[in-house]
Amino acid sequence: MSQAQLPQGETALEADVLQADVLIVGAGMAGLCAAVAARQAGASVIVLEKAPPAERGGNTRFSNGAIRSVYHGVDDIDTLVGGLSQAERDRAEFGSYTREEYFDDLARVTQYRCQPEMADMLVENSRETMFWLHRQGVRFLPLYEWQFKLPDGRIRFSGGSALEAYGAGEGASEALFKTAEHMGVRILYETKARELIDQCGTTAGVVARHDGKDITIHARSTILAAGGFEANVEWRTRYLGPSWDLAKVRGSRFNTGDGLRMALDFGAMPFGNWSGCHSASWDLNAPDVNELEYGTVFKRDDYLEGIVVNADGQRFFDEGADIRALTYAKLGRAILAQPGQVAWQIFDKNGAARLHGEYRVKQSARFRADTLDGLVSQLEGINKAGCLATIDAFNKAIRTDIPYDPGKKDGRHTQGLTIPKSNWATAIAEPPFEAYAVTCGITFTFGGVRIDPTCRVLDEASLPIPGLYAAGEMVGGLFYFNYPGGSGLMSAAVFGKAAGHSAAQTALAQA
Ligand SMILES: Cc1cc2nc3c(=O)[nH]c(=O)nc-3n(C[C@H](O)[C@H](O)[C@H](O)COP(=O)(O)OP(=O)(O)OC[C@H]3O[C@@H](n4cnc5c(N)ncnc54)[C@H](O)[C@@H]3O)c2cc1C
Repeated sequence: MSQAQLPQGETALEADVLQADVLIVGAGMAGLCAAVAARQAGASVIVLEKAPPAERGGNTRFSNGAIRSVYHGVDDIDTLVGGLSQAERDRAEFGSYTREEYFDDLARVTQYRCQPEMADMLVENSRETMFWLHRQGVRFLPLYEWQFKLPDGRIRFSGGSALEAYGAGEGASEALFKTAEHMGVRILYETKARELIDQCGTTAGVVARHDGKDITIHARSTILAAGGFEANVEWRTRYLGPSWDLAKVRGSRFNTGDGLRMALDFGAMPFGNWSGCHSASWDLNAPDVNELEYGTVFKRDDYLEGIVVNADGQRFFDEGADIRALTYAKLGRAILAQPGQVAWQIFDKNGAARLHGEYRVKQSARFRADTLDGLVSQLEGINKAGCLATIDAFNKAIRTDIPYDPGKKDGRHTQGLTIPKSNWATAIAEPPFEAYAVTCGITFTFGGVRIDPTCRVLDEASLPIPGLYAAGEMVGGLFYFNYPGGSGLMSAAVFGKAAGHSAAQTALAQA
């Protein structure tokens, strides 16, 4: 976005005390969906955004925009993208993604810990929410990346994240800001919510910091949608554990747990996987905290195309355990546990030919050589002999009688290794060879507050805190250990929309 197009935001407020039916803290997917839904229900809405206008939009803005929903086949895709051409129809087998498959993926990757009512709400509302987002101006494209590749060049959708937002996270974010602004939602930038106002046990708005002074915003309903605590180095160490201070932040620097702290201070029940988070393989050269100009260029998710070794030269996870969407979000944690919090992805010519474009950016921690010896010699701090032995053992362990097939989970695995590669195992054999140094990039935290089906925040006695709602990353109970790709935006949209609707109804009923 050019400087001229930037929203200016409000710098001089008319008063230090403001009033709205519904007050929303945070302007990511959850906050904006809540704002639009609350306006649609007839409420007046104020949104507080901690970031300045140029950095508005939270993690949503940084995201790839892939979104996981139930869909009933090509007709749903056709409607949501606004019409597929015949060439697009011919290019892909879109398949479908049923509610049972979504439940199954979510339950399996969270090791059956995800809270059933929340999973139910996410899955059952996902399809309808896609159509709602579309009506609010979010445009979608088929997500051709990361799907199965058929021998004739066509693409077979592997289920789940079949669509991405046009313009990725930034596109979705801008569309929702535009709609919200058009509907009369008032957005206060560089306004950091600090504390919930307690009116005899009922929340009555927040005190926020704006332009160097405290302002008060009174509201009958307050929705917290302020993200997790991924950008708070002290909380990461406190809740996720040792070494998490050393992870790099993949998204917004503004998600420091403010909303969670405010809710807990008010007596909200902590819920979900507070020691867990979404974390992926991230380029070692990435800055400690990401910036919008980089977006997702440091993403290193093509580990399926080769092997990954640590400083001892050892592999430490199954690179082909499943499709990327079901494994990448737990890989950061695995890398963080390695010596020096570093690992190297290693590919031969064939694997390297299949890498995504991000691997080629100039900032990439990339090494290249015509021999394996020459390659491994460049990897600073690695046990060279150990690494070469690992590659040799890996190559010899591949079941070459099973054909390599990127069109499905091919079952071409290694045999006899302590850590197998379960699918797509191909030898690291053809020069030139490439290696990429990676570390852990944290995306968002899983712990949050507990909500009921109308997104009311529950207190420690499991009773709703009057006037208080939450949505998005702040909500606990959905994701544990891992996550099915594309579910972050979907859950933010589903729960944000529901929170906005409920909060508006409550506020208007009181009015
Ligand atoms: C690099 C990256 C790629 C991703 N790719 C995908 C993807 O392809 N698909 C997918 O589904 N998910 C993806 N995600 C995850 C997804 O972005 C999040 O799950 C989702 O955007 C969360 O939405 P949210 O509204 O809860 O939080 P956010 O979008 O982070 O919004 C939180 C907002 O709260 C504001 N805030 C914080 N504290 C305060 C305060 N005290 N006062 C006022 N405002 C405050 C922040 O500034 C921010 O605007 C990705 C994330 C990252 C970082």
